[in-house]
Amino acid sequence: MQRRDFLKLSAAAGAVSCVTACGSKKTETVIPEVPVAEKINWSSCTCNCGHSCPLKVVTRDGKIARIESDDLGDDSWESHQSRACAKGRSTKKKVYAADRLKVPMKRVGKRGEGNFREISWEEAFDTIAAQLRRVIDTYGNESVYCQYASGRLYSFFSGGHWAYGGLWGAKLLNILGGYLGQYNTYSSGQASNAGQYTFGGRPASGYAELRNSDLYLSFGHNPAETEMSGAGGSYALSVVAKGVETYVVDPRYSDTAVSSQCHWLAIRPGTDGALCEALAYEIITQGAADEAFLAKYCVGYDQSTLPASAAANSDYKSHILGQGPDGVVKTPEYAAAITGICAEEIRLLATKLIAAKAPFISQGLGVQRHACGEQAVRSILMLPLLLGKVGQSGTNTGFQPARNVYPLAFSPTGANPVTAKIPCFLWTDAVVRGEEMTATTDGIRGAEKLSANIKFIWNYAGNALINQHSDVNKTHEILQDESLCEFILVHDVQMTPSAKYADILLPDLTDAEGTDISANSATEAGVLTAMTSSVNTPFSAKGCFEVCLEIAKRLGVEQEYAEGKNYQQWLESLYNEVAVKKGYPNYDELVKMGIYRVKDTKPVIGLKSYIDDPVASPLSTPSGKIEVYSETLDTMSKTWTLNEGDEIPAIPKYIKTWEGFEDLETKKQYPLQLIGHHAKGRTHSSFHSNPWMREAVEDAVWMNPKDAAARGISQGDEVLVTSLRGKLKVRARVTPRIMPGVTSLPQGAWTKKQGDVDVGGCVNALTSQRPTAIGKCNPQHTNLVEISLY
Ligand code: SF4
Repeated sequence: MQRRDFLKLSAAAGAVSCVTACGSKKTETVIPEVPVAEKINWSSCTCNCGHSCPLKVVTRDGKIARIESDDLGDDSWESHQSRACAKGRSTKKKVYAADRLKVPMKRVGKRGEGNFREISWEEAFDTIAAQLRRVIDTYGNESVYCQYASGRLYSFFSGGHWAYGGLWGAKLLNILGGYLGQYNTYSSGQASNAGQYTFGGRPASGYAELRNSDLYLSFGHNPAETEMSGAGGSYALSVVAKGVETYVVDPRYSDTAVSSQCHWLAIRPGTDGALCEALAYEIITQGAADEAFLAKYCVGYDQSTLPASAAANSDYKSHILGQGPDGVVKTPEYAAAITGICAEEIRLLATKLIAAKAPFISQGLGVQRHACGEQAVRSILMLPLLLGKVGQSGTNTGFQPARNVYPLAFSPTGANPVTAKIPCFLWTDAVVRGEEMTATTDGIRGAEKLSANIKFIWNYAGNALINQHSDVNKTHEILQDESLCEFILVHDVQMTPSAKYADILLPDLTDAEGTDISANSATEAGVLTAMTSSVNTPFSAKGCFEVCLEIAKRLGVEQEYAEGKNYQQWLESLYNEVAVKKGYPNYDELVKMGIYRVKDTKPVIGLKSYIDDPVASPLSTPSGKIEVYSETLDTMSKTWTLNEGDEIPAIPKYIKTWEGFEDLETKKQYPLQLIGHHAKGRTHSSFHSNPWMREAVEDAVWMNPKDAAARGISQGDEVLVTSLRGKLKVRARVTPRIMPGVTSLPQGAWTKKQGDVDVGGCVNALTSQRPTAIGKCNPQHTNLVEISLY
């Protein structure tokens, strides 16, 4: 017995003797509860919030009594606690959830209906192995797809979705000849593409640089609802942005805007590019553009640095001054008509930017999740470049602030013999018409075209099979047709909407039940957590390693797969290799400590090495410089087949889009713009079925009082939200915290259909599968809707 356990038992025993000695004179017998010792193990919250907060799991008799948080250390900025938010602390409700998957099951109804029968693990493994063999033999390895998923990330073994090559299933499939790869993420595809074509990556400064800044301009970044950890941006801003004049550009007066006492510039969704053009106009015409900086570090700001292949006047400066092909001068008045921000406010913000010594300009990821999101990102990146304020203390590149990442080694997967990759958002297209998809029509990478449609989907710990993918109605039709995708394996912990589409459904262990190691990404001090468990799993659940091992056995590749080690041996040996290199405690020491804090206070300043020495540290763009004008994009615009109305400009610019503010035709029937936002009660769709979270955080569509009054809608009314693609029922939240003409719905609610209405409130009942032009990414915040009383 540990000393702590002994003390708890002693205290409990003392309480019992007090009852018997000081009780009433009646002769009734009080039967004391037998005291049960508490055990404490550390676990971690590995959902896709990114912070992997340590969780202190307190058990009694193998059952979770409660979940506590990181409470160790002095909690100074350099050593701050990674305190879990309410979601992580509600993990007990996830482990014992009513919809927990308890046994392996086989589908008996249609896909999506959720009708299954229990089968043995042997039957499950035999079926999966036979189907995998059949599909590979019939259609080739390129027909096997591992679905994008982010339910478990950032740990040695449970974590790393397929795109990161971090799962044991990837190793198994590589041994079997490979699988169709993917690139991009649902979270940040447009930002990554914009960064790649501009900087050759996504460089950014850390939050700590805000301490050295005198102006913070944020486009839609909302860490108060997306980074709620003690290691997250919300806490960081409260420490480092104190006293820094702050402007937030966002259609919603977000919780971050409220808490930062900022100047709120309410902007129409998808129009950030137009605002940036007008700010650029003011900076250039006031003589504040740092032309020496732009000439030295950038390609294509003006004609003097345009590549030889570029047309005359195709540079950025000409575009802003109305000397480019469109002939439009990008004045504040021009932008005001598009963005909804008045011209005087735009001028005032330009004046502030010009006067700032070290402006810290950043953006959230909602800005880019639009029909033309790459252009919004590129436009924001122009502001620090125009001012020549980048690569210096207190400044940022325009991207979301960087977080320190403490990488662990993932399981070694070997190389994937299949080189073809699809943009992750186009998987439904690859199910229906994979063989038609090429590099220039659909952004296929690693091959000119696909050789097969997707026939086998392996969905591990993810809900993008239906819920988190756009247009759930269309996805449902595709998945129900068993002549298209012939087999779907889902391995998860709960009966999610995606799980209902499984042919074979396997129960997984939760974080609190397994052994693993997690590492968080944090603002200054990171944490490694040795995840151990004293929870007796009351279900027949198995982890990913074991599932893959059993399938490998049936396919005759057990030895290549396991290489003679079991799960625990892999965990310890891989971790210990990293520990030696990084100076971390070894595995046994880490388990004793529970959590280990990694302090990292080195300043992180985006683009610093390039700005300090552009010759010695060139960027990984084709020119080695910052590409305001991208020849690569220019070539794509001439060689790619695009959807009608799509455009790939070589320079950053605002583009009118389908279902944007300027789509007047669609607005005749659907006059309101609709975006999605992250709310505190879910991380994407994780925690949706957790009753504590549903009780704590309201799901409602935000409407401005003017729009609500025009439709006879009052606070709390049930309303029907309709788009070209579907309908959903939800309550109305009538609030001036959203600008007129714009509505917003918390994303991640689980789809549930009643007739043709999604009564679960899943925003993807309304969204579109039409991808962006450049990155083929998801435009889930570009929607036009109408709202009426239900
Ligand atoms: S959701 Fe994020 S902030 Fe909350 S406990 Fe989990 S990892 Fe931490």
